[in-house]
Amino acid sequence: MNKKAKILLIYTGGTIGMIKDYGTGVLKAFNFDELLHNIPELKILEHEIDTLSFEDPIDSSNMNVACWVKIANTIHDNFKAYDGFVVLHGSDTMSYTASALSFMFENLTKPIIFTGSQLPIGDLRTDAKENLITSIQIAGLQKNGKPVISEVGLYFEYKLYRANRTTKINAEHFQAFASLNYEPLAESGVYLSVNYNALWRPNRRQKTKLHTNFNNEVLVLKMFPGVNAATVDHILSKPGLKGVVLETYGSGNAPSDDWFLDILKKKILEGLIIVNVTQCIGGSVVMGQYETSVGLKEIGVISGKDISTEAAVAKLMYLLGKELSPKVFKTIFETSLRGEMS
Ligand code: ASP
Repeated sequence: MNKKAKILLIYTGGTIGMIKDYGTGVLKAFNFDELLHNIPELKILEHEIDTLSFEDPIDSSNMNVACWVKIANTIHDNFKAYDGFVVLHGSDTMSYTASALSFMFENLTKPIIFTGSQLPIGDLRTDAKENLITSIQIAGLQKNGKPVISEVGLYFEYKLYRANRTTKINAEHFQAFASLNYEPLAESGVYLSVNYNALWRPNRRQKTKLHTNFNNEVLVLKMFPGVNAATVDHILSKPGLKGVVLETYGSGNAPSDDWFLDILKKKILEGLIIVNVTQCIGGSVVMGQYETSVGLKEIGVISGKDISTEAAVAKLMYLLGKELSPKVFKTIFETSLRGEMS
C-alpha cells in the first residue's frame, strides 16, 4: 500500500509557468500562484503537496552554479520533512541542472524529479499538466514504506529518465528529451510501469551527503573539421582554466595532427584536465579503437566513456571542487558515481 507521501514542489521558472506578453509576443516567467491556480487537479492528488517558488523565476538559460546550489540547499534544508521533491525547471538546461544535482547529492535516499513543459500551463494544448501530475505521483511512489525512486530523475512526455543520462533533443516536440545510453526508469501509460532493474540503489544505512563546492573554470570544446591550431591554443590558454570537455567525433576521435596533440599534451602537463566525450547523442568513447584516438589516450586525456556532455560538465565542476591529484581525478572521473556512465 502506498502511504500518503509529502511532496515539496519547487518552482524555478521555465515555460511551464510562463505567460505570453501580448504586446511583444514574448514568453516570460510569471507568478507561481497563478500556475497553481491553473492546475486544480493538484488538490485531488493523493499526496500532500507543499509549494515553494524562486522569488524571481527564471528562464533556464539564465541558470548557473549559484542557482544549482540554491535548488540543492532548498531540498537539503527540507530533506527530513518530505518524502520526495519535484523541481519545475525550464527544459533548455534541465539536463545540466539535474545532472549537477545528481552529483551534489551523494547517496540520495529520496526522489528528486525534474520536469517542465514545452507549452505554458495556461495553454489549451499544454503538456504541463501531465508532466507535473505524473512527476508528483512518481515522487510519491513508495514500497514497504520506502521511496521507490532514490535518485535524480527527469520526467517528460510519459517517460522517467535517469536525469544525468538525458539530453534535450527537440525544441518543439513534446518528447523533448532522450536518454540513448540508458533505459527509462519508468513509463507512464494507463499504468505507471517502473523498470525496477534500472533503478539506482542507495545505501539506506548511510546518510545523504550534500556537496556544493563546484568549480566552474571549465569549457566545452566541440571539434569540427577545419579547426585550427591558433584557435585551439587560444581557447585552452584561458587564464584560470581548469577543465575541458572535449567533444570529439564518433567513438572519441579527433585530428591526429601533431599540432593538435602537442597543444593538448602541453596543457595536460601544465595541469589542465581534458575529458573526451562523444558529440554523438548515443554510444561511447573508446580511446584506442581508431588511430585517431590513440594519441589522445597516450597524452593522458580522460575517457568520458558514454557520459553525456551535460553530465560531463557537471561532473567536471564537481570533481574540480575537490582539489584531487591528476591521477586520482582520472580514476574517479572514469568511474560511475551516480549511474552517469556505464
Ligand atoms: N526557455 C525555456 C526554459 O528553458 C524553455 C522551457 O521551459 O521549456 O526556461
